[in-house]
Amino acid sequence: MLAKAHQLLHDIYGFNAFRFGQKEVIEKILNGQDSLAIMPTGGGKSLCYQIPALVFDGVTIVVSPLISLMKDQVDALTELGIAATFLNSTLSSAEMNDRLKKASNGDYKLVYVAPERFQTEEIFYLMQSVKVSMIAIDEAHCISQWGHDFRPSYLSLCDTIQNFTYRPTILALTATATPLVSNDILQLLGIEENNRVNTGFVRDNLAFQVVKGQERNRYLLDYLKINEGQSGIIYASTRKEVERIYLLLKTNKITVGKYHGGMKEEERNDWQEKFLYDEVNVMVATNAFGMGIDKSNVRFVIHYQIPKNIEAYYQEAGRAGRDGLPSDAILLFSPQDMQIQHYFIEQSEMNEEHKKLEYTKLREMAQYGSTQMCLQRYIVRYFGEECGECGHCSNCLDEREAIDVTLDTQKVLSCVKRMGETFGKSMVMKVLTGSKDQKIKQWKFEELSTYGLMKTSSQKEVTQLIDYLTAEKYLMPTDGQYPLLKVTEKGVTVLKGELKVTRKQAQQAHKVAIDDV
Ligand code: ADP
Repeated sequence: MLAKAHQLLHDIYGFNAFRFGQKEVIEKILNGQDSLAIMPTGGGKSLCYQIPALVFDGVTIVVSPLISLMKDQVDALTELGIAATFLNSTLSSAEMNDRLKKASNGDYKLVYVAPERFQTEEIFYLMQSVKVSMIAIDEAHCISQWGHDFRPSYLSLCDTIQNFTYRPTILALTATATPLVSNDILQLLGIEENNRVNTGFVRDNLAFQVVKGQERNRYLLDYLKINEGQSGIIYASTRKEVERIYLLLKTNKITVGKYHGGMKEEERNDWQEKFLYDEVNVMVATNAFGMGIDKSNVRFVIHYQIPKNIEAYYQEAGRAGRDGLPSDAILLFSPQDMQIQHYFIEQSEMNEEHKKLEYTKLREMAQYGSTQMCLQRYIVRYFGEECGECGHCSNCLDEREAIDVTLDTQKVLSCVKRMGETFGKSMVMKVLTGSKDQKIKQWKFEELSTYGLMKTSSQKEVTQLIDYLTAEKYLMPTDGQYPLLKVTEKGVTVLKGELKVTRKQAQQAHKVAIDDV
């Protein structure tokens, strides 16, 4: 059967070889083993179910979350000569019945459905009237409550599948799954551990960059000028910001589109089409834009504000360079932007435990902005894996000299200890800089030996040092909205004088244009 798969790869898609991981997944599926495929964006997940779908004699149902994309996916398959269709709420009941009838006659090899549809009678009817060989669940992280895009309709999928009179082969696919999420997917769908195929998360062609301390509008306009004519996405965290940036770019004569949840669907789709067909180069959008968008030539993804967590960041940034060519993934980082994400978490309907988790994830995202580790490595470690240094992220390319900051580190860490490890970074900073804040008096912190120990440094400098020490794991914040700082074991070795700490620091000349004081 694998020979058949090879032949299809060549004859239908015109490709000579399978990509890393594809063959393994396809082989498992053809052997009837339920599997989970974890591959980076652009890794080639679609072929993992499309090729088996063509080998199997029955129908393959593909569960996909975005209705607007189904048509594109089906059109692309039709162009390849593959019989496919979709069932979703955009169809009239006559169309729906017509397609269902054809599907139950076995006229299609692939039927795309939205997760909501999956619980309806139509699916049961289909299951009974035609042989369904496989169910492919795209964006499978939506099943897990620990994922960054949990959808109840996805969770119900699992029950629906249990209730089927027979069980087709299941293939779950995702590009963003922490170990917690991927274990959850295995468990919820009853997939065996050894049928998890994980090709790793490294995206060699992406140059990750964190830009700090620059005037963001200026940076953006300069970047777009240098990269004129290139296709890219700018993500902002609110609709208002999208509108503002859109206007800014428009007045600077950049062909730009916009996309956010507050716009009429028609208008949104119109911009999306224009972007997909290269009529506008740059798209300014909230995170409502982009899931599953298969635009291969996106050369840059810029986050104007910090997203809610690393998973969301990696998924959004990963939309750059699907064609494998070098592309930029840039985060314009300002710690103040945490506040808007805090607000989103507070406003959400999550329970307290879940909120706590989201705060922790957000903090790990913020640490991405403060770490001096290879950025690709930071992300891959977040997903529970290891990789070498990428050599082309902004940290790998940072040529500033690393300065010994052991003494300052000891000051910070001992201050945290002396405050009983029961305060957050802002209070620690205030004690170290000798602030006259009311709370300092209240707690009698003026009496601490570390009070004012760093008074020659600005509040901002000390805050940045604390952020750096947290990102490098000398300090560990507790979970929740108001994290308290604790000194880690690694930090203790510094206090004992057994470990030196170095840090690449901004030269004086670079400290001028700062927009986030
Ligand atoms: P994903 O869903 O994992 O983000 P896709 O399935 O959309 O990725 O594939 C990304 C791109 O790679 C598509 O343009 C696809 O045609 C191409 N591709 C997939 N598999 C192969 C292969 N074996 N050889 C060459 N190109 C491939």
